[in-house]
Amino acid sequence: MRLQPLGRLVVPAPVPIAARGPAAPPATATVARLSAARPRPIITGMPTRATKRGRERTPLQRDCDVLICGASFAGLAVARELAGIGADVLVVDRYEIGERQTSACGIPTAWLRALALEESLQQTFGELVIHTPHSTVRYDLPWTFSTFDYRTLCGLLAGMGTFEFETAKVDGRTGDTVHTDRGDIKAPLIVDALGWRRVLGVGENIQPPDALLSRGLEVHPFGSGEDLEVWIDRSYVPAGYGWSFPADGEVRIGIGSFDPRHHVREPTERLAADLHADRVRYQGNWIPHALRDATEDGVFFVGDSAGHCLPLTAEGIRTALYFGIACGRELRRVIEGEQSRERALARYHDFSAQHALAFRWMLRVQRLVPRVAPRLLAPSLRTMGTKRFVDWSFNHYLNVAHPSFVAGGGAPRTRHVPSAGAAA
Ligand SMILES: Cc1cc2nc3c(=O)[nH]c(=O)nc-3n(C[C@H](O)[C@H](O)[C@H](O)COP(=O)(O)OP(=O)(O)OC[C@H]3O[C@@H](n4cnc5c(N)ncnc54)[C@H](O)[C@@H]3O)c2cc1C
Repeated sequence: MRLQPLGRLVVPAPVPIAARGPAAPPATATVARLSAARPRPIITGMPTRATKRGRERTPLQRDCDVLICGASFAGLAVARELAGIGADVLVVDRYEIGERQTSACGIPTAWLRALALEESLQQTFGELVIHTPHSTVRYDLPWTFSTFDYRTLCGLLAGMGTFEFETAKVDGRTGDTVHTDRGDIKAPLIVDALGWRRVLGVGENIQPPDALLSRGLEVHPFGSGEDLEVWIDRSYVPAGYGWSFPADGEVRIGIGSFDPRHHVREPTERLAADLHADRVRYQGNWIPHALRDATEDGVFFVGDSAGHCLPLTAEGIRTALYFGIACGRELRRVIEGEQSRERALARYHDFSAQHALAFRWMLRVQRLVPRVAPRLLAPSLRTMGTKRFVDWSFNHYLNVAHPSFVAGGGAPRTRHVPSAGAAA
């Protein structure tokens, strides 16, 4: 279903308050208790700043059973798994849910279907068009890829959870107490889904350009297109790629650089200019391209905070959802008394670590592609463009975080992997 007319934003409707026990939320709190009821998206004219400011930012000092820091893909996927179990789950983010788009919002369509998020779908593509300086190839994909509306997807996902939400900036942590700009929150189960900064990690955080991070920037001009396109072209970026993702009235055009020392603003603007698109509505961030320990000092890390974004493609939404679900299932078993927190930390840590080989392979290819001579790139891509090879490689790629995991239920299956670095 197509949702938005040109230039409009789709925002989730206010969600009903779940009937979960007699305690009403404190009157001062900016609470949106989200129920399993599916929110109905509404159309608004202009984006509005929803984040609480000034006097609205009342003190926030409390305990809860589960504290999920970050209300984007990873955090909301964790919360979804905790729906209806009667736990006191609090989600915090510096912005309102869905307020700040964090990506080009492209995902294998099967993931939208598996999570019943089709209402956010904008455009679907069966082919990938790859441009090199010397030619263009089209890969007929074995599965489709879709763009979606960020606000609608976050609203739908949030509507599947049962939790309280507060806007607050997370500053750090001491033990099981998380410090925010509105006060301290204490919880035995803490999730960091705050993105690449890994705010709740131990010690000094690694910063770009030394960290294993890529740079990504895109513009969102109004317009239309039929193809999902990428550019592997050193004139734009020495190591990385450019993209154009049409999304029903808007096109997301950007450049990702695997080398954090290379700036991406100028090439992003140049690619947009080459495509005769306006350079408007910028959106950019650092993107991790290496796995990090998924648990540390008693905290669960999910999504970009654990380096769950895939190297080479910088696809981090489905993996944030996938590992978010895995983490949520482990937390659920703790709340239901089936396992200890320590066991959950160890199991989730091991589950994430089991994917290290796939991530390492993709990182190798990420490092290899820029070394291929430009004149060899086109013939190489053509050779790899046989239907058989495309099906094989893209199916392997999908298997890294397959949508069937959503329906799997239960706890993730784990092989035994030594859990060094798992929780204390
Ligand atoms: C330009 C660009 C385009 C991309 N395009 C795609 C794409 O098309 N498909 C794809 O799969 N991946 C894409 N990615 C990667 C993808 O965006 C990330 O991997 C994904 O968003 C990770 O999800 P997450 O929930 O872990 O983190 P995020 O989506 O980054 O969410 C982190 C959340 O934490 C909040 N937060 C951060 N710090 C604080 C704080 N201190 N206090 C309170 N809240 C805080 C933020 O407001 C945010 O809501 C792209 C990345 C970039 C930069």
